[in-house]
Amino acid sequence: MTASTAKSIPPPLSTLTDRELYDRVMTPNYAPMTMIPERGEGVRLWDTDGKEYMDFAAGIAVSALGHAHPELCKALAEQAGKFWHVSNLLTNRPAIDLANRLCSLTFSERVFFANSGAEANEAALKLARRYALDHYGQGKTEIISFNNSFHGRTFFTVCVGGQKKYSDGFGPKPGDITHLPFNDVEALQSAVSDRTCAIIFEPVQGEGGVHPATEEFVRTARELCDRYNACLIFDEVQIGMGRSGHLFTYQKLGITPDILTSAKGLGGGFPIGAMLTTEAIADSLKVGTHGSTFGGNPMACAVACKVLEIVSDPDMLSAVESKSTLLKSELEKLNQKYDLFTQVRGDGLLLGCELSEKWKDRARDILTQCAEEGLLILMAGANVLRLAPPLIIEEKDIIAGVAVMGRAVERLNG
Ligand SMILES: *Cc1c(COP(=O)(O)O)cnc(C)c1O
Repeated sequence: MTASTAKSIPPPLSTLTDRELYDRVMTPNYAPMTMIPERGEGVRLWDTDGKEYMDFAAGIAVSALGHAHPELCKALAEQAGKFWHVSNLLTNRPAIDLANRLCSLTFSERVFFANSGAEANEAALKLARRYALDHYGQGKTEIISFNNSFHGRTFFTVCVGGQKKYSDGFGPKPGDITHLPFNDVEALQSAVSDRTCAIIFEPVQGEGGVHPATEEFVRTARELCDRYNACLIFDEVQIGMGRSGHLFTYQKLGITPDILTSAKGLGGGFPIGAMLTTEAIADSLKVGTHGSTFGGNPMACAVACKVLEIVSDPDMLSAVESKSTLLKSELEKLNQKYDLFTQVRGDGLLLGCELSEKWKDRARDILTQCAEEGLLILMAGANVLRLAPPLIIEEKDIIAGVAVMGRAVERLNG
């Protein structure tokens, strides 16, 4: 920048707090909490003032093994000392190992790596369109998705997602996307046709309020996809990777999708996404049809391999179920004391607590007060508290965390 176009010189950085500087140098699309974390260990985080937090948010259901897990640190450091990046002009051992491991643990026969959930879904949707074109000709392009669903923030995925507040305001949208009410079997039956190329949903809607799909709905979607030659896509970006107590939720439901997407927990905090599919469908991703510079990055894949090894352990997965039972019963006790919730729903260690009339739309207040007391939680809309602690959380910390919630509620009660 030349002197004539330079802006006035900003004040010395030392006069601004980190957060003031944030507001000055970052785009304003986020509104982060004021505290800034400095270090983490397991389910705990410490901020720059040394204050301790229990982390029941896990970076939005990402830090499946908590913070600074020694084995993940080791896997990352080992690969970092070898090479960081080679692009897809070359392949790399960690990527092959991870794909192989994913294929041996799931229905998958072919894997595509991306860097995020949105990119994994972008690949899934593009593949479904291309597969339909290859096999059934022009016109089979309709994508069916559901109100309140969330599939990421690229323009295609955000338009497939069922929340207009995220997709409006960016000009003309990609076409032939139909939104239906979630879990409405009849609406689904009357909408699917020969024109449908894919049905996509989250087995448990995360961002949209923590709503599990009903068994009947999932079964119907599978039957309709079979009847009309459409791809069934499960977006397991949030509920997958052990969070439901099964490696992937489709395994619990006993219904196999044609394409499954994973991200969030897959890298335990290192960015990675994956799209899993069958050989027959993957065949439509011919050389050059899709790609990513960073997809399959060796550091991401080395870490994810280790996450997968740890999370797929049957003892680990069954512990998620018992931890879920404990968390629900602690929340129920809290509820009896404060009349907080009308419903606690979800699956495994992804729970949504729908607030009662008395606390209506006060999720933000409760979340803020919890942070004040030293507990990080999430919301899923104004009326739902969302809890997604690391899968490695210990029972005593589940009890301690809910006790902190109790203190926060007590404080808000005045
Ligand atoms: C978070 C999320 C995404 C988007 O993942 P990013 O990594 O933020 O792109 C997609 N689908 C679901 C179900 C999610 O929860």
